Amino acid sequence: MPLPDPLLGAEDPDVFRIFGSSGRSEWLLTADHAGRAIPGRLAGLQLSPALLDTHVAWDLGVAGLAERLAALLDAFLILHNYSRLVIDVNRPPGAPDSIVSLSEQSPIPANSKLSIAQREQRRSELFDPYHRRITAELDGRQRRGQPSVLVALHSFTPVHSGQERPWHVGVLHGRDGRLARRLLRGLRQERGLQVGDNEPYAVSDDSDHTLVVHGERRRIPHVELEVRQDLLTSEAGQQEWAVRLATVLVESLAEELPPIQHDYSPLG
Ligand SMILES: [Zn+2]
Repeated sequence: MPLPDPLLGAEDPDVFRIFGSSGRSEWLLTADHAGRAIPGRLAGLQLSPALLDTHVAWDLGVAGLAERLAALLDAFLILHNYSRLVIDVNRPPGAPDSIVSLSEQSPIPANSKLSIAQREQRRSELFDPYHRRITAELDGRQRRGQPSVLVALHSFTPVHSGQERPWHVGVLHGRDGRLARRLLRGLRQERGLQVGDNEPYAVSDDSDHTLVVHGERRRIPHVELEVRQDLLTSEAGQQEWAVRLATVLVESLAEELPPIQHDYSPLG
């Protein structure tokens, strides 16, 4: 069978962008869902521009938050430029929700009858380069003796499938909760702040990829942070949350973390 034509053309944006490549601190930030680009060849997945503006396509406000946080922490930050509707870079390839044909209530018909070759192509052009770049960054830092702490940044919709979410921020972890526990403690000191512990999502091998592969398997400290999207709609809100998160992140490393406990056994 002939190979399909390349997905990305000259007019399409880069797969990802790096912010603060000179990041000298231990912090390495990722924003898997920061973008909503769709390769021109896919014709917007035949979705309405209105839908592509919503959380269905991307994590609203997370790019602004991530860039501000990276500047405050002198961190390396990588942001994916493409919509999770093309392929979700925070799902294991092949997982049922790696390329969704239904997102919450919204059908994505252009995704429903993909061939194996088309799925593979989305992976090789949009998924692999992003994760290869994160791996290369972490490898390089390890070689140079620069420690790394991974923070995966996301934002979540205040109402999902009719369900209101009360948390302002969620602190998520899987097998290694060392950093997460310190952040929970730090954020909960602020009066009035509702902080989710593995809410609104929990980390698992099926529902996450970035944290599992680049954090747990490498055995470096890591955490996933989810901020509610309505708090990030203005630049002032993004700045407020960047300062808040930078403060608790720096405080969380004031004392050395205890030794790692998990042995990377399978997790539900
Ligand atoms: Zn996300």
